[in-house]
Amino acid sequence: TPALEAVDVTRTYRSDGVSVTALHGVGLRIEEGEFAAIVGPSGSGKSTLMHLLGCLDRPTGGTLRVAGRDVAALSDAELADLRNRRVGFVFQSFQLLPRTSARDNVALPLVYRGVPRAERRRRAVEALSMVGLGHRLDHRPSQLSGGEQQRVAIARALVGEPRVVLADEPTGNLDTRTGHEVMDLLEHLNAEHGVAVVLVTHEPDIAGRARRRIHIRDGRIERDERA
Ligand code: ADP
Ligand code: ADP
Repeated sequence: TPALEAVDVTRTYRSDGVSVTALHGVGLRIEEGEFAAIVGPSGSGKSTLMHLLGCLDRPTGGTLRVAGRDVAALSDAELADLRNRRVGFVFQSFQLLPRTSARDNVALPLVYRGVPRAERRRRAVEALSMVGLGHRLDHRPSQLSGGEQQRVAIARALVGEPRVVLADEPTGNLDTRTGHEVMDLLEHLNAEHGVAVVLVTHEPDIAGRARRRIHIRDGRIERDERA
């Protein structure tokens, strides 16, 4: 079973009688353990596709399966539950709570899953150690460098033991060297822990490190390259 599968997926946004079709009949399979980059010009539908793959949104046409389950057959609560169990998210701007320690930022997704406090803390420490920040547990985001903040965000994405991490421009706010260090970490997590990684990037050097590059243009997959 693919981790994620889109069959002829369409997403049309409607507001005030205007409709914009962001994705036109996209077909895509992301297998367990893959490392893929989604590339394409601004407005081509990358974020829309990431939102669908992450169960933050539903297609308006076609079929989307997550771990073999058709999302159309799920209630909103079931979809949210599938998202919480299967997917971790990483953002360009880190999205950490500013007044909260690294450990508590990382533990946050487990609060929503009803994990008891002691176990949350234990698992947050474990996830921070995995990203090389076992010595920064009590630091707040402002006390950390940009690369460290993104590693905290990656630890938060991993703490629920997802099968897939979706990263939207994860190196977009980092200098070149730090961006490549974040990529080293994502590659390591992919290789050692088998978590699939799908990232969006505008940077050719970053995309070049993925084993697969999915090119999107005008809401369609234009090219799907495998190294
Ligand atoms: P990308 O991430 O590649 O920049 P997006 O998925 O954000 O592309 O956008 C694809 C198209 O869908 C664009 O034309 C954009 O304006 C439109 N779009 C995205 N989100 C919305 C929305 N919530 N409402 C209306 N149109 C949207
Ligand atoms: P890098 O080595 O990635 O370039 P920096 O030089 O920005 O990182 O930071 C080095 C160390 O200094 C980091 O481990 C971080 O914990 C600490 N540090 C950075 N900025 C601050 C700050 N504003 N307040 C406290 N500690 C900081």
